[in-house]
This record gives sequence, structure tokens and C-alpha cells, in this order.
Amino acid sequence: MTPLSLAAPPMRLMRASAAAAVLVVCGGLLAVVLTQGAAQASLAHSLALLAVALCAYGWVLFPTAGAAVASLLLLVCLSWAWAALQLGQLGLDLTAGALLVAVAAYKRRGRARWHQRMAQVLDDLEEERFVKQQALALAGQTRETLQKKYERYAQLQAIAEQLSSMTEPAAIAKLAVDRAYDLIGKSEACLLFLVDAEAQELSLFASRKAESLSAVRAKHGDQFDRYVLRTHRPLLVNDVRRDFRFTVAVAGERTVSSVIACPLMMGEGAEGVLRLDSARPGAYNQDDLRFLDVLLDLVATALMNAKLFAQTQRLASTDGLTGLALRRPFLEQLAREVTRAGRGRDEVSLLMLDVDHFKEYNDTYGHRAGDMVLRAIADVLRQVVPPDGLAARYGGEEFAILLPRAKRLQAGDVAERIRRAVEQQLAVRGAAAPAQHRSGPQRPGRNGRAVTVSIGVASFPHDAKAGLELVRVADQRLYQAKRDGRNLVCAQ
Ligand code: GH3
Ligand code: MG
Ligand code: MG
Repeated sequence: MTPLSLAAPPMRLMRASAAAAVLVVCGGLLAVVLTQGAAQASLAHSLALLAVALCAYGWVLFPTAGAAVASLLLLVCLSWAWAALQLGQLGLDLTAGALLVAVAAYKRRGRARWHQRMAQVLDDLEEERFVKQQALALAGQTRETLQKKYERYAQLQAIAEQLSSMTEPAAIAKLAVDRAYDLIGKSEACLLFLVDAEAQELSLFASRKAESLSAVRAKHGDQFDRYVLRTHRPLLVNDVRRDFRFTVAVAGERTVSSVIACPLMMGEGAEGVLRLDSARPGAYNQDDLRFLDVLLDLVATALMNAKLFAQTQRLASTDGLTGLALRRPFLEQLAREVTRAGRGRDEVSLLMLDVDHFKEYNDTYGHRAGDMVLRAIADVLRQVVPPDGLAARYGGEEFAILLPRAKRLQAGDVAERIRRAVEQQLAVRGAAAPAQHRSGPQRPGRNGRAVTVSIGVASFPHDAKAGLELVRVADQRLYQAKRDGRNLVCAQ
């Protein structure tokens, strides 16, 4: 039961009592007027005062209409009694009653206006409260969004720092798919495709997928990836079945409803696509797409750095004239091979090769012709040395060849094949005059002077127990070959 319902019966009771009192007073006045006795004058006055008091009380108890009706009834009664009895006191009572009613009515009107104003103020306050509540909710939402954005940019900063120290394309790609998958979330798969320039198609380079998903079979991308590659623009598809850009029915190994994808821009061209997809429609928003776009910018920069790094590494370890390895990386590889062979009781052989009478050749035909001879010898080495071997330009006109897992006998065969190939491929083909050869590019070995090489062979572990010792022994054998007449292989 509410407090209002508790308060209601007493008020109703009081109103009923007041109404009954009004009727009693009116009835009393009627009786007094009708009997018209001399003693009735004072009774009429008392009743009149009672009537005036009831008038005043009526304005407290009843609403305006009820109070007005009760007051009118009493005043009419009073007027009639005054007119009938011709009593001066009743006239005064009537005047007092009328004044009282007028004042009460006036006050009541003022109070109603005040109530109205207060209600208006309350309405305004309520409205203000509502607006402020809305603003507060909005501010909360904005704060949440900003917080999320801040977190994402902090994550991007951390990723940028990680990428800045990476030089391995595969590791960069793995980091890209892992971070995109974890930080954007909501996805069944995250795939990074790179452009295969030879096949002129996309090729899957790194991927991450939900555990529930079986292996991704689309190794060359689908219509969404190709669209991004073609347009060079980020793509957000909320529902693949309702997107007018993609009319082909999407069916196949798995359900895809939403997709976001960004191109991997390296310079002017797109070199790949990173895409995330979900089986749920509307899984991604513009914030996700922006995040992916920035992430891909970072990844593209890291991949370009890795490319440059690899190029620099290659240049730093490759001889510019012959394209063969330089002495330092060769010796490092030799040390690794010797360690490996030492552990596995295996053998490693080394050939040291020197061009015979090369100074004389240079003096006769010029340095450029000499350079061409060196390049031609490098070509021979590339043809003859087995794929697991390593040929290097060890010094000016000296070459070194590493033959992993080759016994001294096999190494001697390889050396002999090299010697013979040089002798044949750079042989004298007619004795042209030196002046003729200086006038333009020449083919080595056709300069009227045979080019031959001498080779020393040494093997681990028979001839030496360490890499540099192996080089020294092979060198000694090389000079033995020189002493024995040149254009020779010396293996012991
Ligand atoms: P041998 O080894 O048969 O005893 O005689 P050689 O004349 O080859 O020996 P030497 O060490 O005296 O000469 C090596 C020459 O190799 C000297 C140098 O002019 C030449 N040479 C070294 N590096 C290059 C190069 O990069 N290009 C050219 N054209 N010549 C080079
Ligand atoms: Mg030499
Ligand atoms: Mg020489």
C-alpha cells in the first residue's frame, strides 16, 4: 500500500465532515429564519460565524471548484438569512465571509501559479538532467573509443619497433599476420599473399587461422585479394553476398561473410595483399581497416629494408668483377664446413687455383682483356663446381673452391675438369695481333695466347685439421704445380 492511499481516507473523511457541517449550518440557518423568534438573533449570528469559518476551512480542504461551490452555498444561505431577519450583525458576518472567500480565492490562484511555475522548473530540471545524462553517456563512449585508438596506436608503435630490427622477410610476414590476427581479432583467417612475378599471380606467403578451421586451400587468393591488388585500395566488405562489387557466388571450402584487406604497397606498385575474413557478416569496421592499412605500411617498409639489407649483404660478400664469393665469406663457410665435417667424420676438400703467367697476359693484351679472362674462368667454375660447392675469388687472379663431402680423389677430378675446361674454353683460336684486340671487346682465349691455370688440392682431415691450414696446404700444392711446369693439378 502506497503512502498516498494511506493518507487518502482521512482527507475524504474530513471533506465529508466539512460538507456535512455546511449542510447542518445551512439547515440551522433555515430553521432560525423560519422560526423568527427574538432569541434566535444570537443563534443566527453564531451560525453565521460558523458559516464564515467553514468558508475559510473549505478553501483549505477542497479543490478550487469544491471550495467555491461550498462558499457560494454558505454565502447564499447567509445572505438569505440576513435579508429575512434584517440583523445588522448578520450583514457584518456576510461581509466578513465574502471578504474571506475573496482573499482565499485570490491566494489559491497565486498558489496555483506558483505550483505551475515550480512544475515548469521541475520539467526544465528534468530535461537538463536528461541532456546531461546523454552527454555523459556520449563522453563515456568517446573516451572508450579514444582509449581503444590509443591502445591500437601504442600496439602499432611496438610493432614498428619490432619490425625495425628484422631483416628476414619470412619473419616479418609471420609477425604481420600474427599481429593482425590477434589485434583485430574477430577473424577465422589472416592471409598474406605476395605477388609471384614469374607466375604473375598471388602466392600465399604467411597465414594464421582459427583452430577450428582446416588448412586454407586458396593458395593464390580469391576475388577479394585480386580486387585489392588491382585497385591498390583497402577493401571492407560487410556481407559478401550483398556487395555489388562481387557478383560471383561465394561458395567453397569455407564460409566467408566479411572481409577486410589492404594492399602491400612497395614504391608505386602493390607487391601483395594482407586480408582477414570472418564467417560472421559485419565483423569489421573502418577502424579495423585503418589499423590494417597502417600495419601494412609498416610491414612494407620493413620488407623493403629487408630487401635492401639482403642486397647489401650480397654486394658485401660478392666480387663485382666475377660475381663469385669474396675471400671473407668463403673462409667463414670453410670454417663451418670443417666444423661440420669434424663432427660427422666427413671430408671437405679445397682447391686453390691461380692463372698462369697472368702478368704477362695483362702486359701483352691489356688489363681489360685480363678482366675478361677472370670472368671467363668464373663462368667455368660455375659450370664445373657441383651445386653444394662454393667458388670464390680469393685474391687478384687466384680462386678458391670449397667441395663439401668430397674426398681428395673426387676433388682432384673436379680440379682436373676445371683445368681442362679452362684450357679448352680459353684456348688459342688463331693468333690475332694484340693491337686488334685492344680496339674493342674481345673474347678471352682468342688473343693469340693460351690461358691456363694451375690448381692445388687439399682435403680435411688427411692434409689439415683446420680451415686455414687447409688453405696453406692447397696453396703449397698450387705452387708445386707451378714449379712442375704450370697447367697442372697437384693433389699431394
Ligand atoms: P704465375 O702465377 O704463373 O707464377 O705468374 P703470374 O704472372 O700470374 O703471377 P704474378 O703474381 O706475378 O701476377 C699476377 C698478376 O695478376 C698481376 C696482376 O696484374 C694480375 N691481376 C691481379 N688482379 C687482376 C685483375 O683484377 N685484373 C687483371 N686484369 N689483372 C689482375
Ligand atoms: Mg698469383
Ligand atoms: Mg698467376
